[in-house]
Amino acid sequence: MHLKSLTLKGFKSFASATTLRLEPGITCVVGPNGSGKSNVVDAISWVLGEQGAKALRGGKMEDVIFAGTSGRAPLGRAEVTLTIDNSDGALPIEYSEVSITRRMFRDGAGEYEINGSACRLLDIQELLSDSGIGREMHVIVGQGQLDSVLQSRPEDRRAYIEEAAGVLKHRKRKEKALRK
Ligand code: ATP
Ligand code: MG
Repeated sequence: MHLKSLTLKGFKSFASATTLRLEPGITCVVGPNGSGKSNVVDAISWVLGEQGAKALRGGKMEDVIFAGTSGRAPLGRAEVTLTIDNSDGALPIEYSEVSITRRMFRDGAGEYEINGSACRLLDIQELLSDSGIGREMHVIVGQGQLDSVLQSRPEDRRAYIEEAAGVLKHRKRKEKALRK
């Protein structure tokens, strides 16, 4: 399983539809300051369901929608599609390629799709829960985050390990069941 492509449309500085093709192995994105490198990483967090504006380096969720420049009017919606190569069947779904789309409008309305069919965020989270991507997003290591892992309290560090081991999903399900 590997990330195959990422398409951004109206997401942050990417006003026009832009597709990045990703190969297996390491991909480097290089560019001058402010050219949108971190926005690409934000797009991956966002399409996988990130709900916090701060985690996306904005003040409110609407800040992910292209806000306009001197030469270009603001847009009404942001859309990101992440395509994952699933030819090894790592994701529990009968497709060799899985596209996840998230769309958001200025009024706050949003939608998710798996391979073009509307779904809930929960469906995406379940699909990815054993894959090592998604949910708590510890696969995206931001600047300074390594320090916070090293300096975290033992309980928090345990949560990181449990997530990596795939135990967290079962713990969350158990907690939910006990609340009922
Ligand atoms: P650095 O090398 O400094 O880390 P970077 O390549 O990571 O830079 P980003 O932080 O990804 O750059 O991009 C910042 C740019 O994105 C800024 O110019 C900012 O104005 C623009 N930007 C962010 N949100 C929006 C938005 N909603 N609409 C338009 N432009 C936006
Ligand atoms: Mg950056």
